[in-house]
Amino acid sequence: MTYLDLSQYRMITDVKNKDNTLILEINKIYEVEVEIPYEEVEIDGSILLINAHPKRAENIKVGILNLISYSIANNLKSKITKRRVIYINEPIPLIGHTAFGLIERGRNIIQVRGHCGCNLNCIFCSVDEGEFSKTRKNDYYVDLDYLIENYKKIVDFKGNKFIEAHLDGQGEPSLYYPLVDLVQELAEINKKGKGIVSMQTNGTVLDYKLIDELEEAGLHRINLSINALDEKMAKMLSGRKDYKIEKILDIAEYIKNSKIHLLIAPLLLPNINDEEFKRVIDYAIDLDLKVKQNIINPLTGKRDPILGCQLCRVYQLGRRPKKMKIWDFNKFYDLLRRYEFEYKKKGIDVKLITSPKDFGTHKRKRLPYPFKVGEITKVKVVLDGRVKGEVLGVGRDRVIQIINCNNEQNLMGKVVKVRILRNKDNIIVGELI
Ligand code: SF4
Repeated sequence: MTYLDLSQYRMITDVKNKDNTLILEINKIYEVEVEIPYEEVEIDGSILLINAHPKRAENIKVGILNLISYSIANNLKSKITKRRVIYINEPIPLIGHTAFGLIERGRNIIQVRGHCGCNLNCIFCSVDEGEFSKTRKNDYYVDLDYLIENYKKIVDFKGNKFIEAHLDGQGEPSLYYPLVDLVQELAEINKKGKGIVSMQTNGTVLDYKLIDELEEAGLHRINLSINALDEKMAKMLSGRKDYKIEKILDIAEYIKNSKIHLLIAPLLLPNINDEEFKRVIDYAIDLDLKVKQNIINPLTGKRDPILGCQLCRVYQLGRRPKKMKIWDFNKFYDLLRRYEFEYKKKGIDVKLITSPKDFGTHKRKRLPYPFKVGEITKVKVVLDGRVKGEVLGVGRDRVIQIINCNNEQNLMGKVVKVRILRNKDNIIVGELI
């Protein structure tokens, strides 16, 4: 008897079956169903027993693996967002889109976006993420080895000195699997040039074990979003009844006692969470006084700030809470200055207005811009887009978001004429002509 053990494949993280249909969990948060059309196959957990002549059994094995590859390429679904997931690997470039891959903006930071999709549904989400998104139709996942290979190329281009890999994106970065391996590989590359790895998170996926592993992997900083301490307000802002602020505060304290620098990032939604925003600032300052972390950022030679206060802005395809007032940055900074002054009067020196310099961010060599705005070019359509009316094309080692399309499915595989509308930071947007 021949057998095929599916647990030997890193991406297959769980196996179930319903009669002759395999239900494969892929990288923890995705799922795909694969019908096994061979009568000779018996499914026993992750082991497939093949009762056939050895030569036929080998052919069946290859057939099953091909079926699994095909299903992952075409029918992968997110268990979190319930959307289709497109698995990104060679030869799709990783520069050009904001939903996946790598972004560099002429600085020493490289944004690493291994996937998109979020477990929360924040009422203010700038990228309309979560299960109830009205605009997103597909999610993307980037193969770990491919992501690292491309990351290395950008680091080599920029020069491996004081580079920061920042895990962020259209979704919750900590849902990426295998996250610890990703952080470890990035940290190993960056530490050769005294660089760091940092990550944004809503904190919901983190637990003590994962924080321990991330610490071990070399994560330098976690930027943790906390927008309210009040339970009701926190649930309302996150768009989820099961959001537990006590759990996030517990996680904050655990990080604060680790070798990962904790930065708390509250977001002000004027006229909605004004009081709670201030309470989060007070909480962070209090925690910082109680637990002094002494983690030095090699990019600055100093400790990172404890707070990264942010103002909620409105984006074209984002969500905007009805009651929210729109503030400009002057008004926001005036408020933060007032809070800084109030703290100073109490003898506490706190910096609420931070600048890129506080994190060691500085200008560095930019990747070349292969497209000019206004240019008309031919592009091959290779993938469905992130939002309705969008497909993705490939050209000159970039992904191009082609917007305002009708009949997206009819465009797949075709070469189309596109006018480039945007090339800033190598995020390329074009429209069909
Ligand atoms: S956690 Fe971030 S990505 Fe997720 S819904 Fe909230 S704002 Fe959007």
